[in-house]
Amino acid sequence: MVAENLHSVKQHLPPHVALVAVSKTYSAEDIAAAYSAGQRDFGESRPQELLQKAAALPRDIRWHFIGHLQSNKIKMVTPHAHLIHSIDSAGLLQEVNKACEKAGTTARCLLQVHVAQEETKFGFLPDDLLAYLRSGEPGALRNVRLCGLMGMASNTCNMEQVRKEFRLIKQLHGQGKALAPQPELFAQVSMGMSGDYPIAVEEGATLVRVGTLIFGKREA
Ligand SMILES: *Cc1c(COP(=O)(O)O)cnc(C)c1O
Repeated sequence: MVAENLHSVKQHLPPHVALVAVSKTYSAEDIAAAYSAGQRDFGESRPQELLQKAAALPRDIRWHFIGHLQSNKIKMVTPHAHLIHSIDSAGLLQEVNKACEKAGTTARCLLQVHVAQEETKFGFLPDDLLAYLRSGEPGALRNVRLCGLMGMASNTCNMEQVRKEFRLIKQLHGQGKALAPQPELFAQVSMGMSGDYPIAVEEGATLVRVGTLIFGKREA
């Protein structure tokens, strides 16, 4: 099943859009099935779960951390994460930088931008995001690489609203790129989930994060 689902999602993706298979709450066996079908990018949102799966599964998997990251969990995540999508504050980026400096590593990160109508979603507000990039503060952090933006649209069936939000993320990405410490690295736009990824692709996503359509409905 997983292989078939993966195939049908990928059929709708142009070659310049990468698929992150969101495997949070699913078993190592489910991930192994997707791996056998050729999938290498997987998304997890809990540090402990990422740690366990990374230890149990093939080394060439690229793990994407997509959940809210608490500062006391940074050290669990950075050794395994190919890309952290969910940097939702200046303080968090600073903490990730500090942890990587200590470990002698660097972390690839996306800034999470809050464009949805829900109050519960994390992230920089658009103006704050641009002000932060403009401040020059991120450029002083030597152990993080800013690779672009991540965002989520409102959880609504109003697809025009969803499209408007994705369009805003893409527009912010363009503005952010000009202000980023290394503009050529600031190339990723992570947006789109099972319910809305075709719209995200139309609006310029480079990474989509799809779980349910690949692995089935989540229990937890
Ligand atoms: C769970 C999750 C997804 C995947 O959601 P689906 O609806 O299962 O495709 C994508 N992005 C984030 C940040 C998530 O937490």
